[in-house]
Amino acid sequence: MTTEPKIDYGPDARGRFGPYGGRYVPETLVGPLEELEQAYIEARADAGFRRDVENLNRNFAGRPTPLQFAERLTAHLGGPRIYLKREDLLHTGAHKINNCIGQGLLAARMGKRRIVAETGAGQHGVASAAVAAHLGFECVVYMGTEDMDRQRLNVGRMRLMGAQVVGVDSGSRTLKDAVNEAMRDWVTHVRTTHYLLGSVLGPHPYPVMVRDFHSVIGIEARRQILEAEGRLPDALFACVGGGSNAIGLFHPFLDAASVKMIGVEAGGRGTTLGEHAARLSAALGYGGARPGVLQGMYTFVLQTPEGQISTTHSVSAGLDYPAIGPEHAWLADQGRAEYTAVSDDAAIDALRLLARTEGILCAIETAHGLAELIRRAPKMHRDELVIVNLSGRGDKDMEILSRLA
Ligand SMILES: *Cc1c(COP(=O)(O)O)cnc(C)c1O
Repeated sequence: MTTEPKIDYGPDARGRFGPYGGRYVPETLVGPLEELEQAYIEARADAGFRRDVENLNRNFAGRPTPLQFAERLTAHLGGPRIYLKREDLLHTGAHKINNCIGQGLLAARMGKRRIVAETGAGQHGVASAAVAAHLGFECVVYMGTEDMDRQRLNVGRMRLMGAQVVGVDSGSRTLKDAVNEAMRDWVTHVRTTHYLLGSVLGPHPYPVMVRDFHSVIGIEARRQILEAEGRLPDALFACVGGGSNAIGLFHPFLDAASVKMIGVEAGGRGTTLGEHAARLSAALGYGGARPGVLQGMYTFVLQTPEGQISTTHSVSAGLDYPAIGPEHAWLADQGRAEYTAVSDDAAIDALRLLARTEGILCAIETAHGLAELIRRAPKMHRDELVIVNLSGRGDKDMEILSRLA
């Protein structure tokens, strides 16, 4: 018998997590999204499809990833026992590949042999290019010209794997503008093309589909922590851009009420609108986020009082986006997960501490989750157990880091 309040995890049949999510798209996209949803429902129920995903996860991406006890970081902080879920060890350097494998195999099932994708920092573009090459697909990646400048290394990696990288010169010339272009391409070529969206964002069924493909993170972590410690963790920490690595870790633990979940957004340079990308941290003073519609979904969006989408800032390109996945907005409303933000500087300090104590150079995005744990550790008990999702490695950030050094 349990007296715990019943939590509604969603989504409902219309792709809504409480009031969030849904499908706010022009008429031309309704048909393709319905077709995609149907194909996904059938694939999910097909043992052969699940076997194909598992096979590529293991032999192409390198799953399962370790759950590593961070002995020296734990000793240094003197707080809880810290475990690191090592998604940084995956092929192409981040968790992104989990979703690309799933959607790539789904595209193959639908008879589509051309992939379009958007990318910000380039990590999703690289993972899409790798999966497309592996499956023998054509691949076009849309990327803001501002981001192409900042992430030249990833542009080169995509091109080497045969992808065409198309620069987007409109708007702020970053991720949001790349998404618009990718959607436009998809509408025009929908018979041959699958749009491989890179986070738990956009119109239904993307938020639920991308979440399911990343849930392998939490499924593995749950088994691994039980093997290592014989009990569930007390808290999970993950950085939140769109929210895919966080929901991948969180989702398989949602039914365990004792497990706290902390999503960490980009606090950037300060709380003023335009200086951060914190959409669910209004309680901490971060201004400008209200529910609204962006890129096919209803969710929390950083916007001006007049409803213009705000510019954002983060030292990490992967967290630099004005909206958040609708499932996170819903988990926040229900109090099931907690959201907070840390500054650029705190993230860089956390990255340095992990590098020195554990010999792991993580991505700057990843370091945001770690920074929040470092802040809380002194107030936590020594026999508490925490898992931090190490979403990616820091090689891509070396130029930024060497400029700061
Ligand atoms: C893309 C990326 C993120 C942010 O995306 P989410 O969808 O929020 O996970 C975080 N960490 C790394 C390493 C990334 O590449």
